[in-house]
This record gives sequence, C-alpha cells and structure tokens, in this order.
Amino acid sequence: MKIIEYMASTALGKSGMKELNYTLNPYSGCFHGCVYCYAIDMTGKKDAAENWGEVVYVKANLIELLRREIIGKKRGMVGISSITDPYQAAESKYRITRNAAEILLRNGFRITVQTKSPLVVRDIDIFSRYRSYCDVGMTITTMDRNTALTIEPHAPSPEARSVALGKLADEKIKIWIFAGPIIRGINDSQDSIEKIFRLASSTGARIIFDTYVPYRGASTLMQKTVNRAGNSSAYYADRIWADAIRDIFEKFSIEYSVKVNGEDEEWLVEYQNDFRTFS
Ligand code: SF4
Repeated sequence: MKIIEYMASTALGKSGMKELNYTLNPYSGCFHGCVYCYAIDMTGKKDAAENWGEVVYVKANLIELLRREIIGKKRGMVGISSITDPYQAAESKYRITRNAAEILLRNGFRITVQTKSPLVVRDIDIFSRYRSYCDVGMTITTMDRNTALTIEPHAPSPEARSVALGKLADEKIKIWIFAGPIIRGINDSQDSIEKIFRLASSTGARIIFDTYVPYRGASTLMQKTVNRAGNSSAYYADRIWADAIRDIFEKFSIEYSVKVNGEDEEWLVEYQNDFRTFS
C-alpha cells in the first residue's frame, strides 16, 4: 500500500445527494479495494484509480482547512465520507476523520458517517457525546466471508463489521446498515439478504439498500470477479430483477420489523430527528 500526503484546496465539498449539505473526504483512493466501487471514477487521482486498493492520498491539511472553512458557513449535514472509506487503515495513523468529526459536531454541524471498518468504534466517545447529531452506517453487502473476500478483498470481514455495529448499538449510537450494492448472482439470494436482516434486527439498525450500477471504472474489476464467480449475469441488473430485490427487502422489513429504505429515498434527516424526539 502506498500512502501519499498532499495539500488539498478545500475540506468541505458540495454534495449531489439530496440530504447532505456538504461532504468531507479525508482520503482519495481506498485500501479496501472493492471491485464494484464507483469511487474509482471519482477519485481524481490517476494512480489511485489505476491501482485501486493500493494507492491512497491523504489530505494532510484538511483539519487546518476545515477550521477556516466553517467560519460563517451555514450549518447542515456533512457526509463523512462520500467517496472513500473514512476509517480505512490510514485513519488509524492520521486521525483526520476523528478530528474533523469532532470539529464539525462541536460547531453545530450534523454528521453522517459511512464505513466498512471497525476502527469507527475508536471514536465512540465523540459520537456518544453528540449522539443526537450524528449517525453511523456500516456497509455490509454479505455476511458470507468468501463472497466478501471476492468483492471487497481488503475490507474487514463481515463478522468484524457486525461486532463493531453491536458496540455502536450498545452505546446507543444511531446506526444503519448499507446493504449495497446487491449484485446479481453474487449476493442477491434471499438467504444472503436475510442474514443482513438478522443482524439489523439484533442491533436495532435501519437498512438502506442499493443495487449494483456498472460504473466505468469498476467494470474491469467486476468483469474479473464475475468471471471468477462464473456468473455472467451480474451486469444485467434489469428492472424485473431490481423489483424482485426490492420485494425481498420489503418482505423481510415486515418479517423482522426493520425499517428499510432504498438508496434513492430520503430517510437521513428523519432518522436523526426521530432520535432527538424519542431518545
Ligand atoms: S470501502 Fe467504499 S470507497 Fe472503499 S473501495 Fe470499498 S466501496 Fe470503494
């Protein structure tokens, strides 16, 4: 793994996502190396994109930039991160995500965190201090270790993510599971999806799901994976298949009493507000 520090020009980015006012990405490139990752197309760093999972750029001046940028900035929801995993291995050394989260929360912003890493548990002290103003999402595409190894080769195991989710739940942090992408023929069986619901049910997590969209950068990696898995239908996520996946999520939502949203729906603000009302 190659780590390259650089000076970024901004800390907070604009978000194309409806419920996020800002994004904050401490790292470009991601050591987890997921084969379906749309960030390959968005990283802006050629060597990171071409060697996905092996090169990570660190925004060494992000905290300094953030402190300046928040002065006079309209308060709102910040997505940490929108492009790469904010708790990938480099974070254990650099602690940029931790420091940024603390600065944002202390200054009246709300944050929503998404990761695949148990390292997020390190920052429970911050999340619990500002529990009404943050939530943490753990991406779990499958509970099957071998499938996870195939599509997320360097990411922490599903078991490790489940344990981390449980620890966050124990501290009453608002949590959710991002069950996505669901890829045809890879992790789309009822059995596979039901295991994620069992975890959500036992931890009190909400589930957000999404189906795979073949982005250009991920196509090569996906092609190799699909070939290895001997499943050539993975690219054909047609409407009928996508509707069937939605039906599975809706069915289990009722069966397990777990709230579910599609990635395209608005749920985030309601989720945090709901917590403020009932906690
Ligand atoms: S953890 Fe997220 S950002 Fe990192 S490679 Fe996987 S999908 Fe991409």
